[in-house]
Amino acid sequence: MQTDSHHIRKRFSQNFLKDHNVIENIVNIINPQKNDHIIEIGPGKGALTIPILNYVKKLNVIEIDKDLVRLLSRNINDKNLIIHECDALKFDYSKFKNSNLRLIGNLPYNISTPLLFHLLSYKEKIKNMFFMLQKEVAKRICAKSGTKEYGRLSVMLQYYCDVESMLIIKPDAFYPSPKVDSSIVKITPRQEPKYQLFNENCFEKIVRAAFSQRRKTLYNGLRKYLDEADIKKIGIPHNERAEKLEVEDFVKLSNLYYQSTIN
Ligand code: SAM
Repeated sequence: MQTDSHHIRKRFSQNFLKDHNVIENIVNIINPQKNDHIIEIGPGKGALTIPILNYVKKLNVIEIDKDLVRLLSRNINDKNLIIHECDALKFDYSKFKNSNLRLIGNLPYNISTPLLFHLLSYKEKIKNMFFMLQKEVAKRICAKSGTKEYGRLSVMLQYYCDVESMLIIKPDAFYPSPKVDSSIVKITPRQEPKYQLFNENCFEKIVRAAFSQRRKTLYNGLRKYLDEADIKKIGIPHNERAEKLEVEDFVKLSNLYYQSTIN
């Protein structure tokens, strides 16, 4: 695969997997089954695509780089592979009829965070996701409250999903080598929410606002939506910082905000 004369495009964050042991480990972690509905984001030259095709009846892949799409369809002569030449950020995942989707990929680092937020809007259709991400992004996804990595991405993903960091991968597993370590994260949307949320829009707004001014107090970030007394009402000091709050606290705050909009 390395001998293909593809011109590497930095703007698409192209770091191709080259280490066969690492590829095998990743495929084992994904554990593809014959009837799985797997969608791979950014197949590149097929480092994961080719081994996964050995397991499944059908594999959908989404690739933005037209030269890689051409290369893939030339190199992989398999009617079970369906290639979508498209931007994964704009892709409408609801067009897959199945509601047990498994999303995987060595994600382009420059779009991983917006892509995760985009995929959250399809969570009801997704069974699980296994993504390779920059280790720092993986830490933010799995971060506990009170740590410096804890932020909007942690709260939004942890409310809707179980998250688990699976494996650290060193830069020399890729070409070109990225500057930082990578990590595989398993993200499983919950069937049932952990806490009762009245309105998802309000939750989104509150979490975004709370972390918009990290250095300031919670009240400063939330004053557009809630007043000091409201924040105190649910047992949170108004001068607390957003990163100290648990996911449940954000749910309580957004429920309070929602109630104030309907009263
Ligand atoms: N899966 C391959 C591998 O592991 O060797 C390639 C991984 S590389 C980190 C990311 C891949 O995502 C590249 O093939 C790149 O062209 C593709 N890509 C980048 N931005 C994309 C986007 N917005 N939508 C779909 N694919 C994208």
